[in-house]
Amino acid sequence: MSIELPEALILANQMKDVLIGKQLESYHVQNYDRMQKVGFLNKNIKDFDQLLNGKITSVIARGNVIRVELDNNMNLLIAPEYGGEVLYHKDDTKKSTQYHLKIQFTDATSLTVRIKSMGCILALEDEELVNSYMYKRDFLRGISPIEDEFTFERFSKEINTLNRNLKAILVGKEALLVGISNSAFQDIIYRAKLFPKKKGSELNKEEVKALFDAINSLMNERMELRGKNQFIDMYAKKGKYIPAMGPNMKGKTCSDCGTGIEKMSFGGGQIYLCPKCQEQ
Ligand SMILES: [Zn+2]
Repeated sequence: MSIELPEALILANQMKDVLIGKQLESYHVQNYDRMQKVGFLNKNIKDFDQLLNGKITSVIARGNVIRVELDNNMNLLIAPEYGGEVLYHKDDTKKSTQYHLKIQFTDATSLTVRIKSMGCILALEDEELVNSYMYKRDFLRGISPIEDEFTFERFSKEINTLNRNLKAILVGKEALLVGISNSAFQDIIYRAKLFPKKKGSELNKEEVKALFDAINSLMNERMELRGKNQFIDMYAKKGKYIPAMGPNMKGKTCSDCGTGIEKMSFGGGQIYLCPKCQEQ
């Protein structure tokens, strides 16, 4: 399961409502060897000391990444890309033990962050943010599909200049947009009835419009339904959006045309699709 733009935004909005003004009293990190090895957590755990006594001034999400900004030149960058949990605890009576990072605030409330697969938890000074791959990818470049800059005019102009396949255009560090991973990608191209290997430069106006509408409708639906069905928000409440395409469709048929769903390996992942609706 992945936490993409809608889920990152849901979390960031909840965090913003509750955490702003809170002061960090202590922290605890555990079971982080694997994350540290691949650079998903600070090499030097003592970096987290710099968060202490800081007060949270803002929580912003862009793409799949959440930036928690403190008033002492420090930031907590959270990106549970391939699954994770950010949970708020009003008191310590119901102790949560499954986490990589736990932050205790001076008012006895706490926040735990758990990364289930790939994803990062980083304590970074303002000046260090630009060194983070995920911050650079989602905050410093790309068009966010929920911001005003995502217009049909701009999207169609830019996508038609790209001689890359749709997966590379919508997902990854060179993507035109931010906040879409493999999961949203499969739903988007299924809705738009497009084959994933199709190139941006090959799309006609109707196809670009179908893609643009699919991106908008997916983002809106996932926000309205409070995230994907495997996602839990800051209060452990489950999302209700069921992916239209993906591993959950294995062995099933297309609801539009009844054709068997197929799986293909492509662009560093598995893609489920309807071979009829999404003809090459
Ligand atoms: Zn179909």
